[in-house]
Amino acid sequence: MSGSFHKADSVASASRPLESNQSNVPRDNPIEPAWVSSNVESVMARHAGLGGALAGKSVVIKGELNGSEQSGRAEVHSMGFVKRRHEMRRGIVLGALVAVGVLSLTMAAYEQQGGVQQPAPKVVTVDKIKDNLFVLKGGGGNTAVFVGTNGVVVVDTKLAGWGQPILTKIQELTPKPVTTIINTHSHGDHMSGNVEFPASVEIVAHEKTKTNVEAWPPVYGSTTVFPNVVKESGGKGVPTKTFKDKVTLGSGSDRVDLFYFGRGHTGGDAWVVFPSLHVLHTGDMFPNRGLLVIDKNAGGSGVEFPETLRKAANGLKDIDTIITGHAPATMTMADLRTWADYTRDFVNAVREAKRAGKSVDDVVASWKVPEKYTGYGTPQASFMKTAATVIFEEVK
Ligand SMILES: [Zn+2]
Repeated sequence: MSGSFHKADSVASASRPLESNQSNVPRDNPIEPAWVSSNVESVMARHAGLGGALAGKSVVIKGELNGSEQSGRAEVHSMGFVKRRHEMRRGIVLGALVAVGVLSLTMAAYEQQGGVQQPAPKVVTVDKIKDNLFVLKGGGGNTAVFVGTNGVVVVDTKLAGWGQPILTKIQELTPKPVTTIINTHSHGDHMSGNVEFPASVEIVAHEKTKTNVEAWPPVYGSTTVFPNVVKESGGKGVPTKTFKDKVTLGSGSDRVDLFYFGRGHTGGDAWVVFPSLHVLHTGDMFPNRGLLVIDKNAGGSGVEFPETLRKAANGLKDIDTIITGHAPATMTMADLRTWADYTRDFVNAVREAKRAGKSVDDVVASWKVPEKYTGYGTPQASFMKTAATVIFEEVK
């Protein structure tokens, strides 16, 4: 979980309605790309033939989240995919379409048209990171596919219904079987696909993540409810192997290291390293630039978040590429350090505000992203409020 819109009824930013996907456009954004692509495509599928014009474009959209105005940039991915669960959020997507002139429908016209319901093929796209390491994108967090000597290790399995599309895509990449799933944490947009893999696949996660998956608490501060796939499948998808501080899977070029550096996004976030490739998967401890989500229901901590990031940044060596929880492009250790600094600055600001007798709303109203954090979007009020609330409760 890295946040999502719950209500959207305004149109795209007038100042920057559309920018083509040039190299100078930041590729990450504070809105979960999978969510945006699913919603854009949902609208497109209901208006057959209109979709392709936006493929590959980066759009700026604006909407409302938990009662607060939000904005962000999003890339539009492949067409023809409908994510029905997000149909209610079509307004924001329609706004983006109108703003770029692709579609002249107004909201009213859209509502009147109704549209024909289409089946929903789930399209997984692939980024090749190394010869034997791929990032699969689609509905939910970034999935890493590591092709080893005798089998495939999959990190995170996206939203419910995306396990089989991931498996199908892996079969296009390699004839080797999936032997292992690693879940970075317990949120439904990172592990729901687990239940669609063969029961013989080992599922590895931090011990707290196993506890969270079994308890399936709602994500704190979010109205998004992930269907309890474990319950619905009669108990499938629960981690079968857990670790506390560190565990190593495989050896030599097949080696994968899992670390736990402390609480943050949840209380069971694993950091996954492929030493032979110098690649790290951070899960939602580093979801994107500017999304501080602290799920206290899953054991997350705002006060400990920056320290956990610092430990990871200092403790993980020889990494040149980072796969984040949700960003569309890979990042570097320098980006992780910047994220750690950003998080520390925010937590300290909230801590100081509380000491000064201010309220959570004061913090939300007054905190601005320091200018040195280039590429970090405007703070999203609802995320700030949720995060600040958790930090307030933790600060004695
Ligand atoms: Zn998450």
